[in-house]
Amino acid sequence: MTEELDPFRIAQEQLDAAAEIMHLDKQAHAILREPKQTVIVNIPVRMGDGNTKVFNGFRVLYNNARGPGKGGIRFHPKESISTVKALSAWMTWKCSLANIPFGGAKGGVICDPKSMTDAELESLSRGYMRAIGRFVGSRIDVPAPDVYTTPQIMAWMMDEYDKMTGHDEPGMITGKPVEIGGSAGRYDSTALGGMYVLRETAKRRKMNLKKAKVAIQGFGNAGKFAFEIADKLLGAKVVAVSDSAGGVYSESGLDFAKLSKAKEEMGSVKNFEGGKQISNDKLLELDVDVLIPAALENQITKSNADRIKADVVLELANGPVTPEADAILLERDVLDMPDFLVNSGGVIVSYFEWAQDMAGYFWTEEDVYKKLDKIVTTSFNDMMATQKKYSEAKKRISPRTAAYIIAVERVATAMKLRGWY
Ligand code: NAD
Repeated sequence: MTEELDPFRIAQEQLDAAAEIMHLDKQAHAILREPKQTVIVNIPVRMGDGNTKVFNGFRVLYNNARGPGKGGIRFHPKESISTVKALSAWMTWKCSLANIPFGGAKGGVICDPKSMTDAELESLSRGYMRAIGRFVGSRIDVPAPDVYTTPQIMAWMMDEYDKMTGHDEPGMITGKPVEIGGSAGRYDSTALGGMYVLRETAKRRKMNLKKAKVAIQGFGNAGKFAFEIADKLLGAKVVAVSDSAGGVYSESGLDFAKLSKAKEEMGSVKNFEGGKQISNDKLLELDVDVLIPAALENQITKSNADRIKADVVLELANGPVTPEADAILLERDVLDMPDFLVNSGGVIVSYFEWAQDMAGYFWTEEDVYKKLDKIVTTSFNDMMATQKKYSEAKKRISPRTAAYIIAVERVATAMKLRGWY
């Protein structure tokens, strides 16, 4: 990984930029530049062939001034401590911007879940929870799913935690199946929150979504539901989509149901017959109204930011745009909606799940969606108002910097009130 693309360096740089503009107290800035706690674990797992393999894992608690840590767990072959630290910082800002009572955290294990059996995955999930169990809990740090982790994995982890502690504690992890304390509406909440942001953005940009063309990178939990909701709820036309194997493009729009079926049958959207193949790089540069990166970080960098033709970039993935690219997009008047607003729907409904678990009282899907819309729309309006305020007073700032200013201010205030500086 080059220095430029080191995710934690990027997270620190984004904070530094906001800190300078908002004149953040130097002591608060120093606390907020580094995680509060980093746990590194090695997890031995007996594999299907009888041999034991050791997996490296992490759990980072970035800041808990506003409440327990909150953040997902990634299983990925390219997981790294830098990525987990960056994601834990972004979780801190995300929870703060949404104004929910959590700090930020994140976890990860270096592994290739695609090449593992269910039994191996279960052993790894339980082993990871045994290793980090002392550092998590409903009032300490609350994990959730992220890339390549699922509700089933959350269920195994909660079960292991309950065995370790000897009591039932569903609020210690979110993204669980609804049958064991999960929330209605959690499965598509990240994408739905993102689509509420798109709806509000389109209003401001005077974009008619019914005539808009959309390209989506990634067809997992975030990307797939974004496709479905953009298509069905907003009436936009999704013309391109991709996954790790490659992408597919159709000028007249892709058919969601047929594409999903093809992905299930063939393992990738790449060979879908309802469109022509397109590389991930080319997908990013398509002449569309809305580009939705919904896969991994560092997809729009200084080397391709000049070629992005979309009017709006909606960052459903975490960290898909580097700071250098951010500046280029701002300069070119491409409206880049930041990840920690766009994908906050997942953590907001995780918060609802936690609140329901703590109360032992469950809400309807309708309740969940209504409350989600309210929080996301309020965060969006806060961000745009702050952008306007600062851009009028000084030099133009990006929506991301505006969102940072709000989020950092709230965390700094909580730290001050607690007497941390
Ligand atoms: P996922 O594992 O369900 O899906 C990831 C998708 O990205 C898959 O379709 C995969 O094939 C694709 N992909 C991987 N590498 C790619 C590449 N190089 N080019 C194109 N596609 C590629 O993961 P997810 O939950 O959808 O997460 C995607 C992004 O959204 C991540 O950045 C994650 O942190 C973020 N996010 C997810 C949630 C959530 O609730 N799922 C919440 C907040 C943020």
